[in-house]
Amino acid sequence: MTNRASDLPSNHSDILIAGAGIAGLATALALARTGRAVTVLEKRAESSEEGAGIQIGPNGMRILQALGVTSFLKGKIACPECIRVMDGLSGKHLTSLPLGRDIAARHGAPYGVLHRGDLHGALRTAVASMPAVTIRHEANVIAARSSSESVTVELAGGAKMQGALLIGADGIWSTLRSTVMGAPPLTFTGKCAIRTVIANDAVPPGISTTDTTIWLRPAAHVVHYPVRAGRELAIVAIFDDRALGETWSQLVEPALISDRTRSFPTVLRTLLQQPTQWRQWSLYTPEAPFRWIEKRVVLLGDAAHPPLPFLAQGGVMALEDAIVLAELLRTIATTDMPARLQDFERIRRPRTTRVMEASARNGRAYHLDGLRRRARNAVLTATPAHLFMRQYDWLYGWTVEDALTSARTPV
Ligand SMILES: Cc1cc2nc3c(=O)[nH]c(=O)nc-3n(C[C@H](O)[C@H](O)[C@H](O)COP(=O)(O)OP(=O)(O)OC[C@H]3O[C@@H](n4cnc5c(N)ncnc54)[C@H](O)[C@@H]3O)c2cc1C
Repeated sequence: MTNRASDLPSNHSDILIAGAGIAGLATALALARTGRAVTVLEKRAESSEEGAGIQIGPNGMRILQALGVTSFLKGKIACPECIRVMDGLSGKHLTSLPLGRDIAARHGAPYGVLHRGDLHGALRTAVASMPAVTIRHEANVIAARSSSESVTVELAGGAKMQGALLIGADGIWSTLRSTVMGAPPLTFTGKCAIRTVIANDAVPPGISTTDTTIWLRPAAHVVHYPVRAGRELAIVAIFDDRALGETWSQLVEPALISDRTRSFPTVLRTLLQQPTQWRQWSLYTPEAPFRWIEKRVVLLGDAAHPPLPFLAQGGVMALEDAIVLAELLRTIATTDMPARLQDFERIRRPRTTRVMEASARNGRAYHLDGLRRRARNAVLTATPAHLFMRQYDWLYGWTVEDALTSARTPV
C-alpha cells in the first residue's frame, strides 16, 4: 500500500523505516514475513531509479531467493560465467575468475547482475504483496526521539509519528546518522564514479556482452556487465576527480569522458564513447566509526556502513542487514527490541567493517601504478583462478543461519 505522508495515523506497535532503497524495502519485506507491521517513510515523491547496474553476489542472491524476490526477476537478471580481468593500459587479459556454475555450486546461489530499476521494481512488487507494509512518500524524516516504550519520528513540515522502532535506512547521506547518532560528515576520497547503461547493439566488437569485465589502469578502472538478461550493458568507470557533493543527477560532459579515458585501449575507449548520457557520483567514506544505535533507533544499509564500490557489496550488505534484523526481532515483544538492536550491531559491525576494508583494499590494488602494478598483474596471471576465488569464501559463503549461530555461541 502506498500513501502520502499526511494521510495515515501512526500505530505505536508499527516498525518505522526511513528510506525505501534496497535496505528499507528489503527490511520491510523481511519484517513483514515474520508478521510485523511496517511503515516505510520515503522522502521522494515517487520511486525513481537511476540508469545503472548492480552486481549481487551469492550471499545477496540467497537472500533475494529467501524473500521471494527472485520470482519477480525472471527475464531481467544475467549470470556471467566469469569476471575477466584486463590490464587497462596494455589491453592484456590477466585472468578470468570463475562465476557461473562454479560459484553457484560452491556457494549455493548464483552471482547475478541486473539493472537497479529491476531490483527496486522486484523489491517493491514483493513488498506490495504484503498487506502489513505501508509506504508513505514525501515523508522526509529529519529527527527522532526514543522513550522507554516507543520512538517519535519528526518529518519535515512538522508532522510526527510514533512507532516501536525506527530503522534508519536513509542511505549514504543519512540524516539520522547526523541528527540522532551525532556522526561527523563523510570525507571525500578524491574519486568519482560515472555510470550508464547502453543497448547491446551499441556495444562495439571485442567487448564481452555476457561476462563481467574489469579494466585496471593507474588511478582508474572500468567495469561492465550485462543487465536486462543480457539485452543491455551496464558500465561503471571510477577515476580521480573533484567532489560534487550529494548528487546522482549530475550529468557528465562527454569531453570529460574522452579526457579521463585517453590511455585505455582503443576497444574500451570506443565503448566509452557510445553512451549519450552518464551520471556522476563522488565517492565519500566515514573517517572513523560512529554509533548505529540510540535506544529505539538503529541504522542499517549505507546509512550505517557505506562501502566504497570496489567489491560490489554495498547493496548486498543491506540485504544481509535486513534478514539478520528481521530474524532477531522475530516474536520479540516491543519491550525487548532495544536489547535485540545491540545483538544486531554485534553481528553486523565486524562483517560490514571487513567488507568496507576489503573494498578499500581492492580500490588501492585496482589503481596501482609502476612496479606495484606489474607485481599485481604477475600475481593475477600466475594464481589459478579458482584458488583466487577461494579468498572470497568468507564473503560469498555467508548465511544468516551461521551469523545467528555464531552470535549465540559463547566465546
Ligand atoms: C558506483 C557504485 C557502484 C555500486 N555497485 C554495487 C554493486 O554492484 N553491488 C552492490 O551490492 N552494491 C553496489 N553499490 C552500493 C549500493 O548502491 C548501495 O550500497 C545501496 O544502494 C545502499 O542501499 P540503501 O538502501 O542503504 O541506500 P539508498 O539506495 O541510498 O536508499 C536510501 C533511500 O532513503 C531515502 N531517504 C534519504 N534520506 C531520507 C530521509 N531523511 N527520510 C526518508 N527517506 C530518505 C532516499 O530517497 C532513498 O530512497 C554501488 C555503489 C556505487 C556508488
